[in-house]
Amino acid sequence: MDLVLKVSDCYILTPYVYPSSWPEDGALRQLISLLLVTNLGAAVLYLGLGGLSYFLIFDHKLMKHPQFLENQVWREIKYAMTSLPVISIPTVALFFAEVRGYSKLYDNVNESPMGWPGVLFSMISFLLFTDMCIYWIHRFLHHKRIYKNFHKPHHVWKIPTPFASHAFHPVDGFLQGLPYHIYPFLFPLHKVLYLGLYVFVNIWTVSIHDGDYRVPRLLQEVVNGSAHHTDHHLFFDYNYGQYFTLWDRLGGSYRHPSALLGKGPHDLIRKLMMDGKLSANTDKVNGCANADSHMKESMPRSKME
Ligand SMILES: [Zn+2]
Ligand SMILES: [Zn+2]
Repeated sequence: MDLVLKVSDCYILTPYVYPSSWPEDGALRQLISLLLVTNLGAAVLYLGLGGLSYFLIFDHKLMKHPQFLENQVWREIKYAMTSLPVISIPTVALFFAEVRGYSKLYDNVNESPMGWPGVLFSMISFLLFTDMCIYWIHRFLHHKRIYKNFHKPHHVWKIPTPFASHAFHPVDGFLQGLPYHIYPFLFPLHKVLYLGLYVFVNIWTVSIHDGDYRVPRLLQEVVNGSAHHTDHHLFFDYNYGQYFTLWDRLGGSYRHPSALLGKGPHDLIRKLMMDGKLSANTDKVNGCANADSHMKESMPRSKME
């Protein structure tokens, strides 16, 4: 984060925002700057990536699904945009510790314990470490004493759009983001790689909510894609993972995605249309009772709901 802070100081904050008497390494100034940069960065990443995915990838036919909510896209955006500033407060505390030199982030490849192979290794270990931590944090958030207060808001979206990607309760959002911040305090990591990985995890989080259920056949068993995560939103107790299916397999919570078995949201929409219970031109289900009975047939709801 100090790279981002340096660039912001150099081009914007020092010449235009702060009085020249305020040193760049002043603790209060750094905290204020980090709050600004973190909030702006989060909003740009969320709205930018979410918007691109919503307009270019998300199949808008999914909005006809009986479990797609009224004004859902707007509600997702509103929820995320109110949570992100709250999440930024504890996040900035971690970024501050990082900027003050308490992390194991380094500037040059020659500071890496093993040179370039070390940089490559840290990329792989970052993904494996965060995938493992998020799996267990996510399972913890599904504990019956925790779920209702903190994780349920993210499960309101049964058929998520890319804008559901960051629509979490602040406690939920912070806890699931924590592994990304903890890694550089435990293991050496190149600063530029860390920034790249930070953007990547945001792209990935949007992508598992983008409603594009295609996964190359060879990767279907290994990678936790949108099809896998949509089943998590629909059936709760499965596919808690982030990038890989590894921990779901080890933890006994893997479920082969229904969308890849011809029983996904698109298949239900097609069936309802063929049965004349869903008009091709409207967003509404013709006869909620009929649609409900179809949903119950193809989508057993979880006790957690
Ligand atoms: Zn989700
Ligand atoms: Zn969940």
